[in-house]
Parts: sequence; structure tokens; C-alpha cells
Amino acid sequence: MFSSPEEVFEKEKRYLMQTYKRPRIVLKEGKGAIVRDFFGNEYIDCVGGIAVNAVGYCHPEVVSAIQEQAEKLMHVSNLYYTEPQVKLAEKLSELSGMNKVFFCNSGAESIEAALKLARKVTGRHTFIAAEGSFHGRTLGSLSVTFGTKFRSAFEPLLLKGVKFVRYNDAEAIRKVLDEETAAVILEPIQGESGVRVPSAGYVKAVREICTEENVLLILDEIQTGFGRTGRWFGKDHDGVEPDIMTVAKAMGAGFPIGAMLAKEGIEFESGEHASTFGGNPLACATALASISVIEGEKLVERSRELGEYFMEKVRDAENGLESSPQVKEIRGKGLMIGIELTKPCSELVEKALDRRILINCTADKVIRLVPPLVIRKEELDKVISILQEIIK
Ligand SMILES: *Cc1c(COP(=O)(O)O)cnc(C)c1O
Repeated sequence: MFSSPEEVFEKEKRYLMQTYKRPRIVLKEGKGAIVRDFFGNEYIDCVGGIAVNAVGYCHPEVVSAIQEQAEKLMHVSNLYYTEPQVKLAEKLSELSGMNKVFFCNSGAESIEAALKLARKVTGRHTFIAAEGSFHGRTLGSLSVTFGTKFRSAFEPLLLKGVKFVRYNDAEAIRKVLDEETAAVILEPIQGESGVRVPSAGYVKAVREICTEENVLLILDEIQTGFGRTGRWFGKDHDGVEPDIMTVAKAMGAGFPIGAMLAKEGIEFESGEHASTFGGNPLACATALASISVIEGEKLVERSRELGEYFMEKVRDAENGLESSPQVKEIRGKGLMIGIELTKPCSELVEKALDRRILINCTADKVIRLVPPLVIRKEELDKVISILQEIIK
């Protein structure tokens, strides 16, 4: 297609809006947790398409599900019934304990649906979100996203009166609630702002406050869903049921799909919301295959075990990574891991690349590791030892 990576870089610059800063490699193919570049060099991928590629690259069951469905029916719109959509809704309900599903194509879209739904069922219009939150880049989802760097060029944002409270402080929510509050929106573990894990019981305490005060709880499980944290969903660590829940990222193994899930009675009625592509047969068949792999290969348990293994190794008192002076803290659940450094980590991303490891730097000083859940133990060992070398 192109004669060299340089040609790709040059044309990318010419023809694409420069919204992304990328390392100078062109990725061509992948298998498991390994991706290959233009020249066939192999990298251990700890970015996993930003917590999307849970079942790894080109999982044969996912690939054949796509092939089979593509030969039958890719899209007919939501004017008609299709089987994969109904099957997937049933599956999601079973896994999440939620009752009703609305399908869309991305995380931000599922947040938009959640905000609209919360307004409609409560008749109230404002929201409470957390400091450090990330819920997406569309104008509605951006209104409940905290970071100045995401917001400042676009203010004033769409939703008025959104209040941001300290994360991991449930009582702070009660203090800012008022008669205009429709819902509280939270990530069970904050991803973008540096893998911030709240204390056990925080989400449960928020649930109780929302119930007492009669406002809805929206949990954004877009990053934490589908085994990432060692449970099916982040909410399961606290045994909490939200009123509305959003999912996307890992659901389709890389195929774009998102969903908003809600409890019985918290529903749109005919004509109130819609999506042309949402829940099309190809996307749903892919998501069903991906979920079936997560179940069949016990990837939720694997995420939990490998996460514990990782923490044990890096916390080894004598020479574990956490004991190096450049490391402030290592935290996470399952294979959602943040390594907070004492200085910005963008330079380390380059160094890791030279050692053929893909890592991502978020919130300036946090290395975020969200590898495919199928990553092999030897690969994880290699990642740990290379990180140790380059951080020191
Ligand atoms: C990625 C992410 C989103 C946005 O999803 P998009 O598919 O990029 O729109 C929203 N919330 C959380 C927690 C995310 O991690």
C-alpha cells in the first residue's frame, strides 16, 4: 500500500487532522498480545487499543464470527428485528444484572444516551461528576468530563450547572445535590486521569446516597467493563447496581460498538432516541463472539490473577519496581494498572518503544498498562523487567 513508513507519516500529516500525537511506527498486524510493525518487528502491546483488545489481536473465533456474519447480513437499520442484537442484549443483561439495553457505536455515544435518559426519567437537568472524570469528547459527554485540557477550547459547554466533586469522597456528593440534580455519573475506577482506584465501599456509599436522595446513579464502565479489572464490571467489586451503565471499549474486541444499560422502568419510549448503526448484526455478532471468548478462556479470572501476580512482583520489597525512587505509586485492579512516576513519562514511552514494548502515558505522569487479557505470563515478565530497566 505504501513503500515506506516515511511515506505514511508524510501523507498522514498532509491529509489527516493532526489530532493525535503518535510514535513513528506503522502497525500492520497482530496476534494475541503481540503487534507487528511495517518491517515485521514485534512489540508486546500493553496499550491494547486503549483497553479494547481484551481477547487479543485476531482471535480466530472473533475473526470467523465476523466472516460468517458479513456473508449473511451486515446492516439493515433498526427498522427491523435481527437476531444477533437480541441475543447480545440478553447476554449483556445476564452478565450485568441490568434489564434494558440501548445499542450505539462508541463510548461517548453511550454517555450521551445516559445523560438524555437521566433527564427524561427524572425531569431534572443537572449532573454531578467527579474531579478527574473522563466520559468522552462530544459536547454532552465533555460537559461531565473534568480536565481543562479536554474542555477549555470548547467552553461554554452544553450542559449547564454540572458540579464536580472530589473523587473517592461520597459525602461530598450529598453536599452539592439539589432539586435540579438528575444523576451522579462516575467511573468505578478512573482510567484517563491515571488509573485512580477508590477505596473499597466508595461506589456502594454513592449508591446509597443516590437512593436516599432519589437521584440516579450512572456508572461509566466503558474502560472497566468486560473483565478488565478482574471482575466482569468495576461495579462488581462493591456489589453495586447502578440505575444506568455505559459500556463500549472491550465489548466488540476492536469492532466499534457501545451500549447503555438501564434498570427496568428507566427507559426511552418509541422515537425518543435512536441510532442508525447502533446494534447492527455485524457489530453484535462480533461482540457475542468476544464475550464468548472471555467466558470460554476464563479471561476475567485471568485478568484478576495476572493483576495480582504483577502487583506481587512490582511490590517485591528489595528490588521491585515500586521501590525505585522514580516511582511514586503503583495501583490498579486486574489488568488495569497505573504506574505513577515522580516526573512526566512521555520520554519513557519512546524508550519502551525502542525495547519493543507499547505503553501509554496518561495524566502526564502515569504509565497506564491495559494489555490484552490474553497476554502470556512470560510477556508480562518481560514488560516488568524492561520497565524496571528504563525507569531506573
Ligand atoms: C474511552 C472512554 C470514554 C469515551 O469512549 P469513546 O469510545 O472514545 O467515545 C468514556 N468514558 C470512559 C471511562 C472511557 O474510558
